[in-house]
Amino acid sequence: NPAGSRDIVTPSGCSCGTALVDDGTRLYCPNPGCPKKALHRLEKWLSTLDVMEFGVTILRRLFDSGRVRSIADLYTLTSDELARYERMGEASAAKLVQNLRSRNNPSLAEFVAGFDIEGIGLLMVEKAVAAGFDTLGKLRQARQEELATIDGFGEITAAILVEGLRLLQPEMDATLDAGIVAILESAAPEGPFSGLAFCFTGELTTMKRSRAQALVKSLGGAVRNSVAKGLSYLVTNDPASGSEKSRKAASLGIKVIDEATFMSLCAVDPGSATAGR
Ligand SMILES: [Zn+2]
Repeated sequence: NPAGSRDIVTPSGCSCGTALVDDGTRLYCPNPGCPKKALHRLEKWLSTLDVMEFGVTILRRLFDSGRVRSIADLYTLTSDELARYERMGEASAAKLVQNLRSRNNPSLAEFVAGFDIEGIGLLMVEKAVAAGFDTLGKLRQARQEELATIDGFGEITAAILVEGLRLLQPEMDATLDAGIVAILESAAPEGPFSGLAFCFTGELTTMKRSRAQALVKSLGGAVRNSVAKGLSYLVTNDPASGSEKSRKAASLGIKVIDEATFMSLCAVDPGSATAGR
């Protein structure tokens, strides 16, 4: 070591007794049952869902006593129990339970981000949702390679999300099975494009791209911003442009169609495409 250099001291263990893992970008406790992480997850859940007045102090007491260890446990709390437990007034206890239960329709992004997967915040899940992974089922089925192509993701984030969803599946299911929390899914309507995903590149002549994307969604299809496996069609008026998207589509065997073909798939005649809406 050069003179004057100092070793950077990193903590070697978590308070749960597990050795921390340094993956180069972050230092984390790999123990899925880590109590410190479990408590942090509960705090994250309450803040992500914006549950009012359910403070850290009461949460910590419920956690330390073992009464609330998972998000699902929160929804088994009754106001009677809380009033006795915390010796708070019955009205306050009732309010607390009501506050908790009134925030029962999180968006998919809020639900997943609330589970406190390292590095997977609201914005990241929203990006995945926008890329077509708009139900919990689709997110769970998504493969790492697919997620890695989402704008703002990458191999590491994709891997963390896949692993996090896998490890947390029992707790997520238990939370939903409690029957209070339901994800408000903005799932695409059923239609002729259900199960199909479209990506657009280059200029369209009869409509703006945003209109074409809205058309796909209105017919039940999904819109992707990048070309990856699972994409059904790349729509471009210039398939010979040699753009990266066209080349990638060709290499993956994805159908490349022009605007006119897209319009015929939509069964929309070009004259009426710009009308309406
Ligand atoms: Zn730990």
